[in-house]
Amino acid sequence: MAVIVSGKELAALGETSLKNKKVSLGLGVILVGDNPASKVYVANKEKAAKRVGWNTFDQKLPANSTFEQVASAIEKFNSNKDIHGILLQLPLPKGLQSEKLIELIDPNKDADCLHPINQGYLLRGNTKLKPCTPAGSLHLIDLSFHLLAGGEFKYEVPKKDLTGLNAVVVGRSILVGKPMALMLQERNATVTMAHSKTKDLRSVCRTADILVAAVGVKELIKSDFIKPGAIVIDVGINRDENGVLHGDVDFNGVKKIAGAITPVPGGVGPMTIQYLLENTLLCSG
Ligand code: NAD
Repeated sequence: MAVIVSGKELAALGETSLKNKKVSLGLGVILVGDNPASKVYVANKEKAAKRVGWNTFDQKLPANSTFEQVASAIEKFNSNKDIHGILLQLPLPKGLQSEKLIELIDPNKDADCLHPINQGYLLRGNTKLKPCTPAGSLHLIDLSFHLLAGGEFKYEVPKKDLTGLNAVVVGRSILVGKPMALMLQERNATVTMAHSKTKDLRSVCRTADILVAAVGVKELIKSDFIKPGAIVIDVGINRDENGVLHGDVDFNGVKKIAGAITPVPGGVGPMTIQYLLENTLLCSG
């Protein structure tokens, strides 16, 4: 049976270490419209910032805001010296050009690491900021190796050299799949990216010593997709008709085959928030 790797517990340890640094930072959050999921994500991110003793500055704008109104909120945050990290919650309402708006964020305050300058640094392999969900996932991979080797559950774990290991990333979004693949390659893994056009996803996944699922299809990854002992990171968040959250991985089936697995909820989600805070700290330095 797999080790269940709790991102919730790991993020709680990370928060304690940030809180103990006793620095006073500011996180600026821009939310446009009233997408219910986005409201929950923003509230959770602001709560986490407050728990570590930081200030939050929020700018909530109506769904029918113009490009110029959102741009002006970004520019205000860019020039506010009390704000060290800026988060523009995505997705934006239809009609607003997300990419153009992200380009207006000061790259030095880009807490989500989505600005093309920071994405370029990531591609070059010399990034300071890291995209939050892949960074949180990589931390969970490191912790999984550490636990499987008999180590204790703690925040600071060795960064695993993935030489000789096969990683499969399912999903090729700019937010998760692509940066995740780059970050795994930087660690010397041999990476395969699978996506909606991949033929025989099952066989591709079965090659993975490390499998990251970032798709958005409830329980797509079944137990027969898993190489025995693999580390399985479930990024997916899929809400069913009763409002219950499910991952992209069939958790109950896969945990019988995998070596380590992250749950949904309580896996990658809390670590994404943790890396928003880690990036804000880096932005302040
Ligand atoms: P996206 O829709 O931008 O990309 C999904 C990717 O999955 C695409 O590249 C597509 O090619 C691939 N795909 C779709 N159907 C497929 C199939 N049947 N087989 C193989 N590949 C398929 O989504 P995203 O922004 O990358 O997010 C993916 C999932 O992760 C979503 O459920 C999202 O809610 C979740 N997410 C979670 C966090 C977190 O913090 N836990 C953060 C970001 C996204």
